[in-house]
Amino acid sequence: MPEILEIEYYRLLAEGALEREIASVHVDRYAGKMNTPGLRPADIFPGLSFLTARRKGKLLLLDTEGPTFGMRFGMTGGLLLDGLATIDRLEYGPGRYEDKWVRASVTFVDGGSLLLHDPRRLGRILVDPDEDALGPDGFTLTLKEFREALTARGEGPALKARLLDQSKIAGVGNLLADEMLWRAALDPRRGCATLNDAETKRLHRHVRSTLTQLFDRGGSHTGDLMAERHPGGACPKDGQALFRDTVGGRTTWWCPKHQK
Ligand SMILES: [Zn+2]
Repeated sequence: MPEILEIEYYRLLAEGALEREIASVHVDRYAGKMNTPGLRPADIFPGLSFLTARRKGKLLLLDTEGPTFGMRFGMTGGLLLDGLATIDRLEYGPGRYEDKWVRASVTFVDGGSLLLHDPRRLGRILVDPDEDALGPDGFTLTLKEFREALTARGEGPALKARLLDQSKIAGVGNLLADEMLWRAALDPRRGCATLNDAETKRLHRHVRSTLTQLFDRGGSHTGDLMAERHPGGACPKDGQALFRDTVGGRTTWWCPKHQK
């Protein structure tokens, strides 16, 4: 699944779509599902141009002089600009292109295009999406914001579940959450409100550094733990056999020896 790092690559690609007049927009019935009836991207965006390419968590935001063109990429969504794809970098993408998987397209007056390519049909095009429903972005998350994100009644939900909660921290997906907790030596099942101050600071540091390091390496699937996410996998730090269970609704791998 594209996580925050992949959407940041898409955002960089989408910068090439700025300041180009939009000729037409097509959004299929899957990608258009979440829009208010009557609010059709095909009617709204022609004649406008994208002015800025922003991102909040896994949501890509292309602002115009009118409404904002929002893109969600679901499980397998990729972005193509003028035929150039970043989808080959996607561990969870199909690794190939097919016309029938194009769910939405923006064609520019100059003849180029911006496409949402998505075999699983969970990607969405949104007119003026609700950005306030998302927590602070993982890339720029401050320690103060992180402390607030971990606040909960009692022990709170599992750390892993809280890291995945997009309304608390925007952008972290399954692979990144496991990698961050493994690096920070914290058990993913721990209540998110049970961390002491040193642990909170340590996890915050690893949230930030894991994102910047894996962004440079090439994506969410480039973590140190990735190669060991299989039965018989061992901790790259200490060789301990990894545990696997469902935490926060997702398959989670962790080391029972050093993650406490
Ligand atoms: Zn270990």
